[in-house]
Amino acid sequence: MNHTKVLIIGAGPVGLTLACELARRNVPFRIIERAATASQGSRAKALQPRSLEILNDLGIVEQLMEIGITELPYRKFIGNQLMGETPRTGFPRTDTRYPKTLLLPQPAVESALRTRLEELGGKVEWATELIDFTQTDEGIICRLEHPNWSEELNAIYMVACDGGKSTTRKKLGIQFLGETHQEEQLWVGDVEVDGLKPDAWYNWLSPVYGIAMALFPFKNSNKWQLQAVVPPDENGNVPTPTLEGFNELFKERTQMEGVTFTNSTWQSIYRVNVRRAATYRVGNAFIAGDAAHVHSIAGGMGMNTGIQDAYNLSWKLAAVINGEANDQLLNTYDEERIPIADWLLETTSQRQKVMMAGATSGKSGFESLGTADTTQLNLNYRGSSLNVGNIVTLTGLQAGDRAPDVQLSDGRWLSEQLRGTEWKLLVFNTKAQSNERIKILSVEETVQLAYGVGSGAVLIRPDGYIALIGQANEINNYLKNL
Ligand SMILES: Cc1cc2nc3c(=O)[nH]c(=O)nc-3n(C[C@H](O)[C@H](O)[C@H](O)COP(=O)(O)OP(=O)(O)OC[C@H]3O[C@@H](n4cnc5c(N)ncnc54)[C@H](O)[C@@H]3O)c2cc1C
Repeated sequence: MNHTKVLIIGAGPVGLTLACELARRNVPFRIIERAATASQGSRAKALQPRSLEILNDLGIVEQLMEIGITELPYRKFIGNQLMGETPRTGFPRTDTRYPKTLLLPQPAVESALRTRLEELGGKVEWATELIDFTQTDEGIICRLEHPNWSEELNAIYMVACDGGKSTTRKKLGIQFLGETHQEEQLWVGDVEVDGLKPDAWYNWLSPVYGIAMALFPFKNSNKWQLQAVVPPDENGNVPTPTLEGFNELFKERTQMEGVTFTNSTWQSIYRVNVRRAATYRVGNAFIAGDAAHVHSIAGGMGMNTGIQDAYNLSWKLAAVINGEANDQLLNTYDEERIPIADWLLETTSQRQKVMMAGATSGKSGFESLGTADTTQLNLNYRGSSLNVGNIVTLTGLQAGDRAPDVQLSDGRWLSEQLRGTEWKLLVFNTKAQSNERIKILSVEETVQLAYGVGSGAVLIRPDGYIALIGQANEINNYLKNL
């Protein structure tokens, strides 16, 4: 039987993020993907600021900024009448290098992650499916199948990043709590568009459908994503989307002349499910991403939240496997991430309602979706058992908060020094004892002002959240007790 430390199931954005993170920490793992090749459907169109910070740590944000765009305005119509245009604004924050949502198709994000994974020495095993598994005292015995072979693999840990229909979650007996909104269904797909300028997100509002049609262009590509609300029949069914159907629906709902769709490379039906897994861990098996939570796409946060799940779990798995922490550390994964999923389900459902109300009344479309919250920069783990102390700094920072980024006096950003897999210790007017697991940074006054700390130290976890605000001599004890 073959052996590995971690088996990752699914090479979507979540599995790939986890794989890169384990590869950076030299943890032996395998990542398998049932599909023979990468999916080309555009699906997620937005990377939120918090995910951009993570991808900066992974070293791929600059190339993604080249491919994506941040400035596309929202252009809305009722039928063939232009009703107005709203500029897309970022959020006026100085505590991040990336205050704006980056628009680009999901396959571009996956491709950049795959390339980074290969640079780090890993690779996706395509056309390889997890068929069955059994948990034992020594780990998990997994049966993998490829068209030309099958394999028994013993993995110490397994992480299911196998999407909303996760068979692993079902086999683990984890309940997927929530509801399916059978009445809310969309046609989605990718098309080439003749007759429209690719310089805005287009949406057609309607008192009947809310969003009668929406078209989203991508930079340097002739591909656009199409979305249209299609009410189901009395049995809950929606007709199968086709290129011809897309063209007919557009003509019927917009009455616009001179616009034609060609070359559709992806067509699908999207049904709103609002569900969250009851637990993210059973024994040595974990779930992450859509396998753990699904919700309305309003606000563009599904892929982003999954990437952040992986970023939370990966350093903890590596610390336990490398003997730097007890297994209990892994219980803080769902302790920290389930409250985020609950917020996510609530906020996306709320956004969906607001957007549909604005669209059916003809007032607003997609521009109502992006708010300060969708940046995901304000999410925190203040309730986590990993936090120590109850100090609140002069700028309101507490243990559990995301460590804010700061632009330094020479124009560079603190995040450049925070990159890497170690813990970081910011020391303010004090000295700290060296420790091989910690990168110690004596910081300048700009950082001191932003953090609101006169003297002392701030310990930052490998995933960029503050663990402790206090004195430098508390740090070694903290790490010993993990
Ligand atoms: C139209 C649309 C628009 C969206 N817009 C946004 C947006 O703007 N922003 C956003 O953040 N999110 C958006 N999303 C959601 C986003 O696409 C998902 O949240 C994201 O794909 C989840 O990633 P994942 O890695 O968890 O799962 P997936 O991307 O579903 O990947 C799971 C992978 O696991 C593989 N797999 C399954 N079972 C097995 C098995 N047994 N063995 C091996 N492999 C297996 C599958 O083949 C698949 O490749 C959108 C989705 C849609 C459909």
